[in-house]
Amino acid sequence: MTDTPATSPFTRERFRAFADTEIAPHAAEFDREQRIPTELVKRLAAEGFLGAVLPTEAGGPGMDMVTFGVLHEEVGRACSSVRSLLTVHSMVAFAVNRWGTAEQRAAWLPGLADGTALGAFCLTEPGAGSDAGRIAATAERTGGGFVINGTKKWITAGQTADVYLVFAKAPNGMSAFLVDRATPGLRVKPLHDIMGTRGSMLAELEFRDCEVGSRALLGPEGMGLSLVGTGALDIGRYSVACGSVGISQACVEACAAHTARRVAGSAPLREHQLIRRMLSDMVTGLEAGRLLCRRAGALKDEGDPATVMATWTAKYFASTAAVSAASDAVQIHGASGFGAGAAVGRYYRDAKVMEIIEGSSQIQQLTIAEQAFQAAAGPRPSRSAAEEKVR
Ligand SMILES: Cc1cc2nc3c(=O)[nH]c(=O)nc-3n(C[C@H](O)[C@H](O)[C@H](O)COP(=O)(O)OP(=O)(O)OC[C@H]3O[C@@H](n4cnc5c(N)ncnc54)[C@H](O)[C@@H]3O)c2cc1C
Repeated sequence: MTDTPATSPFTRERFRAFADTEIAPHAAEFDREQRIPTELVKRLAAEGFLGAVLPTEAGGPGMDMVTFGVLHEEVGRACSSVRSLLTVHSMVAFAVNRWGTAEQRAAWLPGLADGTALGAFCLTEPGAGSDAGRIAATAERTGGGFVINGTKKWITAGQTADVYLVFAKAPNGMSAFLVDRATPGLRVKPLHDIMGTRGSMLAELEFRDCEVGSRALLGPEGMGLSLVGTGALDIGRYSVACGSVGISQACVEACAAHTARRVAGSAPLREHQLIRRMLSDMVTGLEAGRLLCRRAGALKDEGDPATVMATWTAKYFASTAAVSAASDAVQIHGASGFGAGAAVGRYYRDAKVMEIIEGSSQIQQLTIAEQAFQAAAGPRPSRSAAEEKVR
């Protein structure tokens, strides 16, 4: 099965070559130093990988979504922190391209495409995670626009982003705003020493009487979550699903190499059946996750709304498979997988994050089950049919 179009300049081989030379050799350092160098971000932009979600008319490379998924898998195989930056940046670029006015698109898309403006997605707060209905940030109307007050936490790329896509309660309901980093009243507090994706430069953001013009409002007021947020989160979820497949791939490769070298008893580890069992489960989870991602991407390319549930399913499966693969990978490596700087140890810490972000595994279980119940119940009666029934 080929996974990128034959005519496209963007191929898995190209992504892998870039990731193997520019990212993977430095991933341990990014994890240790808790940062991604600006030079790498520039190289990602120059390759067209940073603005990959944007069509050519918006300054992007016009990549189809299956190929976008392969890119995020290959970057995720090398370093989940770098993939995390690509994820949130893509979410913001997607939202601006989809919902921006001509003025907003002109202001932000060139920079989002060429990497001179980095984006961060700001939904979570200290008191609101899975339940976005508990968001407390407010956007009160003033004469010329809005005043934003509130705190956003766990914001990937928050330390370095130039534009923040912020969700806050406006008079007409939850709304999305594009907030320039230089806006007075916005304070960025770096978050250090997190368990995984340690290079993803998380921050807490404080908005204190942060005045933004009405042109900062992205999409219709009151539709911030239902339109802008939902679409961006679908892209983010797809990216995380593909990145999780990349982690599983990295685990398989690390274990194949280690078990050929390490001898136990009279034979290399690879000859022991219990080791083979772990490896075969890892490969099966990897292949199944990749196929689910491929399906979700293909449905996106076809414009089929079924992609939303396909993406939920892909992300739930692939993130769970990655955690299982990384856990077994550490097991297979023994103490050497547990030591400082061990790649499989990093995969394990990084994989765990994938079960929390972009809809936790529990939220995905609830959503997937709900969909199954709805599908089993059949199509809902139309309003007029329902009214007929009442009469
Ligand atoms: C590394 C990292 C990067 C992140 N980056 C971003 C970012 O860029 N932007 C952003 O906005 N946020 C970001 N987040 C926040 C992330 O989106 C939230 O952590 C996530 O939404 C879960 O929310 P929470 O942590 O508050 O957990 P909670 O919502 O408090 O959930 C805690 C636990 O309860 C479970 N749970 C919650 N509700 C239910 C329910 N109804 N039924 C059963 N179980 C339930 C959850 O699955 C979880 O296991 C990031 C987090 C991390 C760790």
